[in-house]
Amino acid sequence: MKSKPSSSSKPRTVLRTVAGGQALEAAEILGAASPETSAASKAIKKATTKPRSSLNRFERLGLLTPNDLILHLPLRYEDETRIATLDQAIPGEHIQFEGEIVDSQTTYQPRRQLVAHINDGQDTIQLRWLNFYPSQVQQMQPGRRWRVRGEVRAGFHGLEIIQPKVTQADAPLSASLTPIYPTTEGLTQPSIRKAIAEALVKVTLSDTLDDATLQGLNLMPFAQAIKTIHHPTPADDENALLERTHPAWVRLKFDELLAQQLSLAAARQARQNKQSTPLPPSQPKQGLISKLLKTLPFNLTAAQRRVSEEIAHDLNRPFPMHRLLQGDVGSGKTIVAMLAALQAVEQGHQVAVMAPTEILAAQHFEKFNLWSSTVGVTCVVLTGSVTTKQRREVNATIESGQAQIVVGTQALIQEAVNFANLSLVIVDEQHRFGVGQRLALNLKGLAFSPHQLSMSATPIPRTLAMTFFADLDVSVIDELPPGRKPIRTKLVKAQRRDEVLAAVARAIQEGGQAYWVCPLVQESEALELQTAVDTFEALQTALPHLTIGLVHGKLPNEEKATVMAAFKTGHIQLLVATTVIEVGVDVPNASMMVIEHAERFGLAQLHQLRGRVGRGERDSICVLLFEDRLSIIARERLRALYETQDGFEISQRDLSLRGPGEFLGARQSGVALLRFADYQADALWVERARDTAVMLRRNQPETAAAHIKRWMQNRQDYLLS
Ligand code: ADP
Ligand code: MG
Repeated sequence: MKSKPSSSSKPRTVLRTVAGGQALEAAEILGAASPETSAASKAIKKATTKPRSSLNRFERLGLLTPNDLILHLPLRYEDETRIATLDQAIPGEHIQFEGEIVDSQTTYQPRRQLVAHINDGQDTIQLRWLNFYPSQVQQMQPGRRWRVRGEVRAGFHGLEIIQPKVTQADAPLSASLTPIYPTTEGLTQPSIRKAIAEALVKVTLSDTLDDATLQGLNLMPFAQAIKTIHHPTPADDENALLERTHPAWVRLKFDELLAQQLSLAAARQARQNKQSTPLPPSQPKQGLISKLLKTLPFNLTAAQRRVSEEIAHDLNRPFPMHRLLQGDVGSGKTIVAMLAALQAVEQGHQVAVMAPTEILAAQHFEKFNLWSSTVGVTCVVLTGSVTTKQRREVNATIESGQAQIVVGTQALIQEAVNFANLSLVIVDEQHRFGVGQRLALNLKGLAFSPHQLSMSATPIPRTLAMTFFADLDVSVIDELPPGRKPIRTKLVKAQRRDEVLAAVARAIQEGGQAYWVCPLVQESEALELQTAVDTFEALQTALPHLTIGLVHGKLPNEEKATVMAAFKTGHIQLLVATTVIEVGVDVPNASMMVIEHAERFGLAQLHQLRGRVGRGERDSICVLLFEDRLSIIARERLRALYETQDGFEISQRDLSLRGPGEFLGARQSGVALLRFADYQADALWVERARDTAVMLRRNQPETAAAHIKRWMQNRQDYLLS
């Protein structure tokens, strides 16, 4: 979408999103090193001289430059350095031996194939080809000697090798193990091997680190590490190579972690070099913030006060804040965001608040608007459900600066809203924004960058934060508001649904409300929707005296809003819902939640869902219905949920069950994940890399730059989300 040309002389900020494919543009906008794509593709043409078709295959593997090729490391090796004897053949393992063809024939049962037997003086083994040329039939004439390579299998008639590689006997042996590279369809091992071998000659494997640094950390020189991994000699410990504990691997892992730390630090520095309007907080006991605090029905918790101060301090600095506000479900992040917003409004600036879903945007608007009106601030909402006419009117108030706080979904902001004077962007549940939908601020022609506050209920474990989020500042609300009652969690077999239905009816009779969460159907949205409708109908039949509502992602926005409003006022007693209610929904009177097929949900998701209850005066209960015969992982997930309500603990367990993908969410543009190092197993090296990064940036900036260049070429844009 095009942004409108600004109609006044005031600087304008256009807020919009950038799809994954436009990451390059985002990188340029935010002033990061722009990827040297054209230079890179020229370089690979020089290095590989491959025809166009296989060039594309290299590209598909992300191998754009010779430098990429040398860092494309083998998965395993085949030993062609020695000739084994057939009495050593073990099914499932590769073997290389030399022998004489005993007999061969082309058979047609069950299909056309070439079958030969070969004897090496010790033993005989069968060779079999399902695809072959007439010349191969010639080669297999009895009496001829060959060198044969391949994987031994236990066949029907004894040991055999299918599609073996056959070369001249008595040729010189390879001096190093043969690398087997990760590849893609249509790109053979020999051609990828050749391209990498050529790149290894072409690239100067100079060390980015000096001897003192290497010795201090007891690291292998880069050239030696690269050569060892690509072409280890029989003397190298193959197991250590495969397990990636070999010193050569340690060196590369360290380099990768170091590059990551350096670029995170560079991103932080780049941000600090940008300018923002400092937003000084008002005097204590004066201004909008203290006015609002006086009207609240509660006092802030100590943790809320602490993080508010951290944010207030950041907002007053002349460069953009990038702060992540983390706090478990129900910890009260929204009011903290509102206080930050008021600090900007007080200085005559605008604030944008973005939520991942329509429901959440509507709910945020309700809160922000209520709080705004008590202190005389104008808050507007832009969601998909407003009419074109309304939108035009709202847009006008945003463009004139009359609207001080603008709440909306991200989708809306894609339509380019012209702010008169935007200085703070608040993004809720940022991890829910999908991959490739990262937020970018179009700052063309603008002297000032807005401050950014992201909020997330998903705690990021320390090692992960250190590895992937070191460019952000993090504030944690580590305390729930007082008076929260613990939620009882029950694991119930699906066969006992009737008892659960009775319990729901009882809870509602006592004046409470309940959620009934429909099973997740990952394979098919249509099926998921159908399941939700079926569940809704079944519950209506089973509990005819209750008022039951249904909300799911495919419902038109107005209807969604109507249903949610009816649930909020208590008119709807039982809400049947898909995971659209996963984040943020806040109805304190709802005290019971039933999750069907709980085994299908992720741990973080279950924790989020459960966080919808236990928000009010009532004793709350969460029933996890599960099917028999759980997988081990599903059982561990349910156990974790049963055992603890601590979001941090749950997050740690989730991490160990599933790895870091989920946590990285929007950051996961495919390259954000470490390729070689494992931030948990190599935690010690993460720390060392961080210390080294600090040292290099201070004492050897050119080394730091060279190191980033080697490792992060084309890969820095992920830091901008
Ligand atoms: P989350 O961190 O999950 O976004 P919310 O901001 O929605 O949590 O807050 C959850 C509920 O707790 C809301 O009803 C909110 O008004 C209430 N709340 C927030 N802070 C406090 C507090 N200090 N004392 C009591 N209730 C609070
Ligand atoms: Mg929230």
